[in-house]
Parts: sequence; structure tokens; C-alpha cells
Amino acid sequence: MSKENLVLKLKLEGTDSSIAELNGQSRICNWLYNHLLQKCHELKSEFIHSGSPEASKTLYTKRGLRNALPKLKQEHPFLKVVHSSPLKNTALRLSDAIQVHQKSRKGKRKGKQVGWPKFRAWKQNWFSLFYDEPEKGFKIQDQTLVLSLGIGEDRKRRSITLNLPEAFLLKNKIVRNLRIISELGQYYAIFTIQKELPVRKSISKIIALDPNHKNLAYGVDTNGAAIEIASPKWLKNYDKRLDELKSKRDSCNKKSKKLPVTDAKGIPTGKEFYLPSKNWAKYDHALKKALRKRREQTKTFMFTSAHQLFKNYDCVGIGDYTPNGEGITTPMRRAMNNRSLNRRWKNTLAWVARKSGKTFIEFDEKGTTRTCHHCLHVVEQGIPVTLREWQCPQCQTEHIRDENAAINGLKKVLRDLPQKNEGKHPSIVSGSDLAFVKERWAWCVLPSGVFIHSRGQNGEVIRNTRKLNRGHDSPRSKADHLVMYDHV
Ligand SMILES: [Zn+2]
Repeated sequence: MSKENLVLKLKLEGTDSSIAELNGQSRICNWLYNHLLQKCHELKSEFIHSGSPEASKTLYTKRGLRNALPKLKQEHPFLKVVHSSPLKNTALRLSDAIQVHQKSRKGKRKGKQVGWPKFRAWKQNWFSLFYDEPEKGFKIQDQTLVLSLGIGEDRKRRSITLNLPEAFLLKNKIVRNLRIISELGQYYAIFTIQKELPVRKSISKIIALDPNHKNLAYGVDTNGAAIEIASPKWLKNYDKRLDELKSKRDSCNKKSKKLPVTDAKGIPTGKEFYLPSKNWAKYDHALKKALRKRREQTKTFMFTSAHQLFKNYDCVGIGDYTPNGEGITTPMRRAMNNRSLNRRWKNTLAWVARKSGKTFIEFDEKGTTRTCHHCLHVVEQGIPVTLREWQCPQCQTEHIRDENAAINGLKKVLRDLPQKNEGKHPSIVSGSDLAFVKERWAWCVLPSGVFIHSRGQNGEVIRNTRKLNRGHDSPRSKADHLVMYDHV
């Protein structure tokens, strides 16, 4: 049985005084970060001028800043009111940021250039509190989280108790570490927990999915059923709202008030910065809130669809090709969104598969659209994107574009499975005639659940609507869901 770390983000609630105390802890860590950064600036110029090995060691090693903490606590006793874990991790975090910058500067790091760390403004970003060791500095008691703080002036260790309504999710789990964060005025405890993954189950029901532009994916399974999974069209409403908020925000004054920049000691540095107007800040807050909501809904969408798939199938295969804009200008942004959605969906599928002991594979999608699954004739010039149905010039079989691609995908999955399954041959109950799709279904995945329609043999919506996985909070009526199939 293999083990895997996974992350649980749970809401925290507290009284005004416990939240004030928590904020105080975060503020002190933020102060420490800025103070150490100021020190780093001094060490950096010292190192440049004198080549001091001491300065270099503190500045550039993993634990250099952390080792400077005991002395700093003597100089600034108020640091002692914070538990040693978040304090230590504040120093480690800065050292890490410096190392990332160094690696990036020397070309040893992939991706965008990472600059030298900047001073942090606590009001803009709540400084997270990281308790990196199991059961050190925190414990879960019934529905509460008890956080140990540092030692007060009375030399007694203090603690705060916060409500953790979803504490039951941690039952019988091994908690590795804890990070406390605050986002848009809401507090969360992020637990890393260790989960034991189940042994991989044998495979009998398989579906191959062809991801594309028109829908999220089109699948064909080994029992002769075809499923079209609709794109999350409701995301568009969010995008519209986001666009509105962004344009409202941008019409407000971002540089309303000029203020001097001060260093960690409160001394003006001579530089200045601007504060945005109240309206700008208001819209910015609303925008961030809407973005968070969109993110949450997208995540729910991906998990709901993945769970539904693995509830029905032992193995899900998906094409490795990701649709892209291919130079089209207007839908480019949407296509880009779709593309990253696609990648994230695959990651979610892979994770849900591991978690449930099922199998996920990506197959080489090359040629799946242009090859007739029946006689294997390849249409050399390809099938134009606009052509949703076509006839094979060799065997005259009529094809639904996506379905033909998915059938070819399924063949590849059946071919690849024995090798990809690490030598362990899955017991595939195959024997299904892939040339013959017996039933067609349409899935629409909403945050509230998966809605399934039968589309009959000919692809029309002809029968009842089945609702599965119906969750809580479903603001739409059934009629709304049905509308989404007009263009299936
Ligand atoms: Zn053919």
C-alpha cells in the first residue's frame, strides 16, 4: 500500500479576541520577515565589499537566517510571543526566497526570472503561520484547533482556541503539518495529511475520452456506450462578471494617495508608493472574491466529473492532445482557459484514480480523428474542424467525428494498458464490438452534480433526464439544465 500526502483546507472561526490574537502572530512574523530582509540587504553589501564568509553563510545558506533567530529574540523579546515553529519558518521562507532568486539569476531554474525578495505589507497579504512538525504547536480537540503561542511576559505559554467545524474530516488521519492562512477576511487551516492509497483494482470497464473544442470530452466505453461531456458553459457567467468587475475597478483611481516607503525600522527610505482609492479597493475586493468563487466552482466541477467517471469505470483513458487556439484571435482567451482547464482536469482524473485504486492513462491521440475506426483508412488531409460528421471514402461508414476519435482512442487504450500497467496485466473483459455504439448519453457537470441524458441511438435527446450525485446548493431549476443540451 503506498502513501500519499494530501492537503485539506478547512475553515477556521474564532471570537474577535482570538482572531485579533491570531492577526498579532501573523503581524509579528511579517515584521520578522521584513526585519530579516533589511538585515539581508546589509549583509549583501557587506559581502560585496569585504567578501565576508560570515555574511555569505547567513545570507545564502538554507538555515543561515534561522540560526540568527536566538540572538534576535534576545534583542527583540516581543518575538517570543510567537511559537517557535512559525518564527523559524518565517526565516526559512526568506532564505528559500533568496535561494530561488539566486538559482534563477544563475540560470539554474526553469521558468520566469524570480527577483530578489521584497518587503511585505501585512495589510495586503496576511503572513501565513506554518507549523511544520506533527503535533508541535497545535492540536485538534473535538471541533477546535488549539494553537500554542509563544511565552508571554509572565513567562507562561499561551494558546488560542479556534473553531474548526469540519474537524471530523481529520479523524484517524495522520497530520504532517499545518499552515494558517487568511484570504479576503476568512481564516483557514491547511493540513497536510498522509493518506494510504488502495491497491490497484483489476480492470473490466474502460472508457476512452477524446478532449476537444466543442465539448469537454467525448467518450466511448467497452460496453458500447458513448458519452458526450459538455463544457462547463456556466463558467462563462463568471467570466462575464469578472470582466465587469475588472472594468469597473480599472475606471477607478489606482494611485489616489501618495505615501512614503519606510523600512523595517519605520525610517523613510526616500521612495514613495500610492494607495488606491476606496472605490478601486472595493471593486478589487469583489473581483478577488469572484475569482475565488470561480476557482472553487471549477475545482468542484473537475472533482464531480472525475468521481462520476471512476464510479462507472475501472479505467479512464484520455487523449494527450490539448486543444488550443491555433491563432484564432477572438476565442483565443477562451481556448486558453479551456486548455488549462483540460490540463487540470487530467491531473484531477489521475489523482481520483489513484485515490480510488483505479487506473488512469493518457493515450497518443495522433491520427485518432482522421482514421476510420472501421477499416483503418486514413484521410491524409485530415477532417476539417467544422465537420462534425463525415463518411469514410473507403468503406462508406458514417462517422460522428468525436465518436470515431474516441473509438480509436479506446483501441489505443486497450493496446497500451498491458504495458502501462507496470507489467501487471489487467484483466480486461473486452470482446465488445467497437464498431457498434449501442447507446449515447450526454453528461452535464454542474457544481451541484452530474446530469445525464440519454441521447438514444441517433444522438437526439429523446428520453428521460437522470440526475446523479445531486449535491447541496442547486440554485438552478431542471429546465435550466435541459437548455444546455440544445447544442449537444
Ligand atoms: Zn472506413
